Amino acid sequence: MKFAQFAAICEKLERTSSYIEMKKTLAQFFKNADKKDVKRAAYLLLGTIEPSYSDINLGIAENMALRSLENAFDVKNIKAASRKTGDIGETAEQYAHSKPSLTIPEVFDTLHKIAAASGQGSQDKKVNLLSSLFKKCSAIEARYLARLCLGQLRLGVGDKTILEALADAFADKSAKKDLEHAFTIRPDIGTIAQTLADKGINAVRRIGVQVGTPIQMMLCQRIENLEELKQRTGFPVAVETKYDGERIQAHKKGKIITLFSRRLENITKQFPEITEALLKLTGDFIVEGEAVAVDANGGILPFQTMMQRRRKHNVEEYSKKIPVALKLFDCLYFNSKTLMSKSYPERYTALAKLLKKGKTLQLADRTLCSNSSCADEFFQNIVVGGGEGIVIKSLKADSSYQAGVRGWHWIKWKPEYVKGMRDTFDLVVVGAYFGRGRRAGKYGALLCAAYDDKNDKFETFCKLGTGFKDTDLAHFFKLLKRTDTKPALVNCSTAMEPDVWVVPEIVVEVAGAEITKSPTHTTGYALRFPRFLRIREKKPEQATSVKEIKKMIN
Ligand code: AMP
Repeated sequence: MKFAQFAAICEKLERTSSYIEMKKTLAQFFKNADKKDVKRAAYLLLGTIEPSYSDINLGIAENMALRSLENAFDVKNIKAASRKTGDIGETAEQYAHSKPSLTIPEVFDTLHKIAAASGQGSQDKKVNLLSSLFKKCSAIEARYLARLCLGQLRLGVGDKTILEALADAFADKSAKKDLEHAFTIRPDIGTIAQTLADKGINAVRRIGVQVGTPIQMMLCQRIENLEELKQRTGFPVAVETKYDGERIQAHKKGKIITLFSRRLENITKQFPEITEALLKLTGDFIVEGEAVAVDANGGILPFQTMMQRRRKHNVEEYSKKIPVALKLFDCLYFNSKTLMSKSYPERYTALAKLLKKGKTLQLADRTLCSNSSCADEFFQNIVVGGGEGIVIKSLKADSSYQAGVRGWHWIKWKPEYVKGMRDTFDLVVVGAYFGRGRRAGKYGALLCAAYDDKNDKFETFCKLGTGFKDTDLAHFFKLLKRTDTKPALVNCSTAMEPDVWVVPEIVVEVAGAEITKSPTHTTGYALRFPRFLRIREKKPEQATSVKEIKKMIN
């Protein structure tokens, strides 16, 4: 399949703001695609060459891309031209005039070679490989290739949009649910796309758990008061400590351990002590728990201490300085069998059986309760001890592990809910406003959005300017990735337009006093008196949804 077809679709998508139109365009593109290239095309549309959970990184910085263009077109000082356009894509297209000849496999394989180049001389190698592609590009191909390799494709296409387009292209409406379900247990858009194109929807339905591939994590619902448990989960329930650390999904296959974060990033290298402890257990499995920093006596240290373990360098040194314990609470796979459809008591029994208790691996604290006052008692003890809250879990026969779902099998209960500050929201930062006075030179406020899972869009909900420490603001200034134009996945009215747009990838926890109707925020609602609590380790699509906000208002 020609790379020109991919470039043409990028151009078309960029000009489309309607979700329905985008889906139609994509479905047509997949229909016309060479079957053997469907997987590659699906990755490229998301601006990548591998599933999002793989560690792959092209390792191309802007300077390298500019050097590649200079090499390819034998010109000097493209940097100055690039400053004028402010967009590497527009710069690249000014120089490229070849007749389109590139194929998707050729681009894809070369990008893989670029990613694989490491060590001495790797920068030159990457530049040479990239210029070999640019040399063969037409103007429009160069535009999208340049953006692709700098991670600036921004087509406004998310996983969900692609899944829906795939259903339209290769199956029918009824396949959407199956595709979405398959994606929760195998979040690899390329594999799902190729399976569907080659073998049809029944083969997609058969896609199962694969040890070493992350499963989208189950999430918690929230309730208004503990009395609600009666109708939501019924009794008895398991009441567990809600640890404030980092959720880890640990996979063991033979001697290979892989640890995934809640964003499904591979974080194995960050926790050597967890890997070591898991290797001592027998069999292949997938288990889940929350990693918390602990002191010499096993006492749990605050979240901020734990965060120091989120590092790429000096990992060994820090694993001694700030050791962690993994508080385990679920088992999704054991002894060649998926346990996801089993009830929580069955999964818990498997977990307890495979675990050898030690300093690093422990079962999460829990108690079984047959009424809400028992749950409240456990909760009060946790709160007095400074804990974050509790998670209440259904023990019914249907209490399966619902991958990627915020269902009623798990319910969280935190002190904020009790104190009247009932609502905290996990919102995605989509823009920022510059600060004044003490906050000059930094951001003074952030534009935050909720996720609309129906349309795969982020809709604005509040302007967040309080609750920050000075260090938080400095941190946000470095952390948020600016983009020159509004990210395509974001909807925002002109009245709320921020000073800078940022890539919608950072999730913040925000407390608020009240939700009111709003003509200026695109959710249709505004959060009054929003207060920053902390950064959450969540994927943007796991943020509070517009649907949840609407439900709260009702
Ligand atoms: P929230 O992020 O507020 O939606 O709460 C859900 C998160 O609580 C999960 O993603 C876990 O990281 C964390 N957590 C801590 N302890 C537990 C537990 N015992 N069971 C389930 N989740 C837990």
